[in-house]
Amino acid sequence: MKIGVFALQGAFAEHSAMLHRLGVESREIRQRADMNDSFDGFILPGGESTVMRKLLLELGLQQPLSEQLDHGVPIFGTCAGLLLLAKQVENGPTCLSRMDIAAKRNAYGRQLGSFTTVAPFAGIDSIPMTFIRAPYISRTFGAAQPLAEVNGKIVAAQQGNMLVTAFHPELTADTRVHAYFLDMVRRAAQKAS
Ligand code: GLN
Repeated sequence: MKIGVFALQGAFAEHSAMLHRLGVESREIRQRADMNDSFDGFILPGGESTVMRKLLLELGLQQPLSEQLDHGVPIFGTCAGLLLLAKQVENGPTCLSRMDIAAKRNAYGRQLGSFTTVAPFAGIDSIPMTFIRAPYISRTFGAAQPLAEVNGKIVAAQQGNMLVTAFHPELTADTRVHAYFLDMVRRAAQKAS
């Protein structure tokens, strides 16, 4: 199994480290040629969604990634990655427009810009959640299913092979959300073979 971690900006190194801890091979994707490799799944990290969007477009990465997603290759987007996958974004541009979620960018305002909490995540139990100038999901529609809520707001969702969290599991010591994603990747690979 090999996971491609988009390493354009933001918290990509922490995702690579988490995958390493879980014994999974990963490779950082920085330019279009890196997409010639074959990947079983992708991670779009947190950072600044407008900058990441610009880089994805300028580096010609959006199209090859979209093709992989068309083929059903799983993807995990955290925070800014969630915004890049959303079909609707309040206070920001859309990018890949793949998931049936409406997201509110910088939803917690300045005061609550960053915080940590513990809340239940469907199928896992309670997990620590670190939010940094995070979005939340104002609603899911179509095929997207909420997986976690904090203060009445959806902060994680799944739609088929796509998983998003408004928080940063890669910044905690808890590996369970990544393990959840890797299960999705394993199941997708089994289905394809
Ligand atoms: N506020 C950032 C954005 O709009 C997201 C923050 C994050 O990824 N930690 O892209």
